[in-house]
Amino acid sequence: MNYRIVKIPSDKEQKSSHSVLIIYTGGTMGMAYDQSGTLVPFNFGGIINEMPALRSMGLEITVVSFPEPIDSSNITIDHWNNLAAIIEKYYDAFNGFVVLHGTDTLAYSASALSFMLEGLKKPVIFTGSQLPIGAVRSDASQNLIAALQIASTGKDQPPVKEVCVYFDYFLYRGNRCKKVESVHFDAFKSENYPPLAEAGINIEYNHTALHTDWVADKFRVHKLRPVHLALIKLFPGMDQAQLEHVLQAPGLEGVVLETFGSGNAPTTDGFIQSIESAIDRGIIFFNVSQCSGGRVIQGRYKTSRYLKQAGVISGLDITPEAAITKMQFLFSKYHNTAQISTYLGTQIRGEMSH
Ligand code: ASP
Repeated sequence: MNYRIVKIPSDKEQKSSHSVLIIYTGGTMGMAYDQSGTLVPFNFGGIINEMPALRSMGLEITVVSFPEPIDSSNITIDHWNNLAAIIEKYYDAFNGFVVLHGTDTLAYSASALSFMLEGLKKPVIFTGSQLPIGAVRSDASQNLIAALQIASTGKDQPPVKEVCVYFDYFLYRGNRCKKVESVHFDAFKSENYPPLAEAGINIEYNHTALHTDWVADKFRVHKLRPVHLALIKLFPGMDQAQLEHVLQAPGLEGVVLETFGSGNAPTTDGFIQSIESAIDRGIIFFNVSQCSGGRVIQGRYKTSRYLKQAGVISGLDITPEAAITKMQFLFSKYHNTAQISTYLGTQIRGEMSH
């Protein structure tokens, strides 16, 4: 990819010792209305013009822009590999990174990057907005400015050393939050893990929640490959033949099973047999609840005990977004089914609690 790189000139005479790289992928923040009144991605120049404050923050800000900014519904594994490669290339040159991203798939991208960037010691803050930056009541500048402040805090000892999402006054762990709102400004929530910071007059960090004991010593970037996965959300009256059709798809490697409540699924013979025979064929199942709060407890009810017996791995309190991307990461990194299964059921980047 041919990126455009622009340095934002600072109003301040003194050179700042804090530097942030903004990676602009697209999304509503930088969109504008076309002639038919539809929002379409726009280049980053529009954002700089709408936000003179960027020049007076006392930061060295450089922007890398995707050649074709995208609506995040079009995000792919290639984009994630490119994002990770940009962070790897400029890792030593900047104190922190801000990724401007559409909100629709932002939780997937933040989760994916959290797995791909092993041993991260710097802040990588994803943000976006519900309204374009040019709109009168836009949330764009508040989100972007706070994300930049967080990404530049601490220099050599930053309080944040992980992939996060900043949105509407809260900082969340990237692989713990999900988009929950498409109209109001509070678009993201993290039901099973506390916010890492809250922005008021000051930015108050939740140091206990920021604890990152999973961090490996060496910073290493992992690439993803396309992995053949299925996300199967159960519903009452689900057609057995349809389920079997998905599970028989040639090349299927893994399934995120979105179950009821604390990880429950029907106990009809056909359903159980479909899961068991898919597991016999080497397909790995990851059990994630349809509830956004709480956790999977396989064996609590009879309707989940057989899943555990069949070898379905419990996703505990993981989000579906983190579950899918964790599978993409583990299948890309390991070839051995036993190894993939072990890591799937173990917390590796703070994405689930045991
Ligand atoms: N459709 C937009 C996107 O995800 C929505 C947004 O940015 O809020 O790119």
